[in-house]
Amino acid sequence: MTMSQAPDSAVRTYIEQHRTTFLDDLAEWLRIPSVSAQPDHAADVRRSADWLAAKLRETGFPTVEVWATPGAPAVFAEWPADDPAAPTVLVYGHHDVQPAAREDGWDSDPFEPAVRGNRLHARGAADDKGQVFFHTLGVRAHLATTGRTAPAVHLKMLVEGEEESGSVHFRSLVEEHADRLAADAVIVSDTGMWAEDTPTVCTGMRGLAECEIQLHGPDQDIHSGSFGGAVPNPATAVARLVAALHDEHARVTIPGFYDGVADLTDRERELLAELPFDEEQWLRTAKSYAAHGEAGHTTLERVWTRPTAEVNGIGGGYQGPGSKTIVPASAMVKLSFRLVAGQDPDHIEKIVRAWTATRVPAGIRYEITFAAATRPCLTPLDHPALRSVVRAMGRAFDKPVRYTREGGSGPAADLQDVLGAPVLFLGISVPSDGWHAPNEKVEIDLLLKGVETTAYLWGDLAQNWRHES
Ligand SMILES: [Zn+2]
Repeated sequence: MTMSQAPDSAVRTYIEQHRTTFLDDLAEWLRIPSVSAQPDHAADVRRSADWLAAKLRETGFPTVEVWATPGAPAVFAEWPADDPAAPTVLVYGHHDVQPAAREDGWDSDPFEPAVRGNRLHARGAADDKGQVFFHTLGVRAHLATTGRTAPAVHLKMLVEGEEESGSVHFRSLVEEHADRLAADAVIVSDTGMWAEDTPTVCTGMRGLAECEIQLHGPDQDIHSGSFGGAVPNPATAVARLVAALHDEHARVTIPGFYDGVADLTDRERELLAELPFDEEQWLRTAKSYAAHGEAGHTTLERVWTRPTAEVNGIGGGYQGPGSKTIVPASAMVKLSFRLVAGQDPDHIEKIVRAWTATRVPAGIRYEITFAAATRPCLTPLDHPALRSVVRAMGRAFDKPVRYTREGGSGPAADLQDVLGAPVLFLGISVPSDGWHAPNEKVEIDLLLKGVETTAYLWGDLAQNWRHES
């Protein structure tokens, strides 16, 4: 044990001594209904930002600023290390929450935190106020138990206020403040772990590209007896397009789709196989009746490590009762593509456009519109910052830490893109926490493990990852 590392017992004692204040403070924050999606809560979202800013100042951050956006404000905080050569870490989270009302099925007021057993119930308890807040006591514990007056790393925090309403202004916020946000690594605390007894770190998220294709045949619905069979039908065209998306092995057929996608290494496959995965249970959660996907891959590999093409909606022609004998004027399909490391959303857009152009028959006009895409992110397993997260979490939980990935996509990718820094994920939430659902909760023991993890993390990072410049 070196000077930069405190004994675990000292950290645990410190956390125990401050536990009540920590939970009381968190409860105060949870009482602010910072629902970013609802305009009548705009003042609450601002109040939540101000509340956090004050609390970060009280924690000791010498620089704390509330950054306005055209929507909801974000909070930025910075605490430089004494050692100028120490690495810089940016912690990301969000202070806005999903809508919640008692009548949605909550057992108590969603904005009046309730402790039941070892669980703290409130909207935002896990997603994401609890997981932002563990960083405050974590850095205090780090300082108090090492005798430092500044953290071992240059510590920055960015806590946005629009995550639950699409992070609309997030990318421009990050671009505008890129110099202030510059970091060697980003730590996202807005995720979870595999299970209460299985601490995990997430090493990547998939990206997302989405498009809508509108197909037009005749200028209006026309009689299928007079014209059917002699003119192209846009509903048939859209069905053929969708049918051609995958081959019989459920692989995506769009030429170039898998360009840049690396096969999993044996080590990556082994790490995924270490997770206690129960496919039957997973299917029940999926409310589905069979596992299905790309041949040659397990279910976890399919949802975390492989790119997909999914039909999100399809329509066209008459949908009412009885029949209507027409060749419809139009049809549509909404497609989304989950992307993995190595895939570039701009390339995907290009090849989807080219593929569509070759597949739509003459006489059918179409428009294809792409929404803003999200890039995938993946942290290499041997990245020193990832090793530090795994070690710190292992000490806090006193258990081996396993590796997961996230099949979804998130604003973390913007930080990766704009700042050019790897993204790591440190979360202590568990699947039963009920994100976005009634009775959202956080397990208090796990929340305190989050505190403990960060109490070890900054010292470990500074010691094992020297800044090379
Ligand atoms: Zn969240």
